[in-house]
Amino acid sequence: MKKYIIGIIIILTATLGVYFSLNQKNELDKPQKKIKVATTIFPLYDITKNIAGDNMEVINILPPGGSPHTFEITPSLIKNLQGAKIIFNIGDPLDNWITKIGDNVDDVSIYSVKEGIDLKSFKFKHKHEHEKKPGMKMTLDPHYWLSIKNAKIIAENITKKIISIDPDNKLIYENNLDKYKIKLTKTKNEIDKILENVPNKKLIVFHESWNYFAYEFNLDIVGVFINSPGKEPTPQYLKELHDTAKKHNIQVVFSEPQLSPETIKPFVEDLNLSLYILDPLGGIGERNSFINTLLYNAKTINNALK
Ligand SMILES: [Zn+2]
Repeated sequence: MKKYIIGIIIILTATLGVYFSLNQKNELDKPQKKIKVATTIFPLYDITKNIAGDNMEVINILPPGGSPHTFEITPSLIKNLQGAKIIFNIGDPLDNWITKIGDNVDDVSIYSVKEGIDLKSFKFKHKHEHEKKPGMKMTLDPHYWLSIKNAKIIAENITKKIISIDPDNKLIYENNLDKYKIKLTKTKNEIDKILENVPNKKLIVFHESWNYFAYEFNLDIVGVFINSPGKEPTPQYLKELHDTAKKHNIQVVFSEPQLSPETIKPFVEDLNLSLYILDPLGGIGERNSFINTLLYNAKTINNALK
């Protein structure tokens, strides 16, 4: 009798064992549905990837090579955003096209990562706008991600939101944030070194996107080629810029991959300048991360001005 009981117990244990191991296998085979989040521009995408790791599906909206200033959201992109919990954006006036998704995406919130950032006025844009319309309301310069100090605040803001969506993995996200902030600090030191021996730190850039970068790394932007992305400079404006270039002994001018360089060519040829490319967004080639994009820009400035 005792033998039978032991036999039954052995059979039961074995059966249960097989049952549970099969069950577990099924559980593993089932693809885990990841939480979906989205970003408007590549720097936010890359920062979000660094925080979320493989826990979330991150999609970026602005295609590589596109300019956030002239972009318009399409129905197919809106379709892609279905299921996203949150969209991280820069904010007014850079990527407000994201608000055009309206009610077309269910239960998504749009969050501007600028919370806690010291936003600055444009240096040039308003000078000209004010001459035309004195007393008009100033918009603040939205290119604040081009600064290590601000990138840390952005990463913190994104982490907070990600934790609120997925609190179970709070420790993972906090750990990722710590690691990313260490990388950013290292990048700041590297860029300081790259730019330390540049003799002439005066720059003319294509559009007014480098103020925060210049402020952080002691560069001096003396002129911008276009006042507003998508608008051609007037002959009067170009004449002033010509004088500025002469006055500061400018030898190079910096264009951008997102904006057509055709308009700048006569200016470049006229003053016999060299043309270099700075990239405020990245996401292409060696600029395959936000940090590598910042390093690329620092190296380009060093090569151009040394
Ligand atoms: Zn811009």
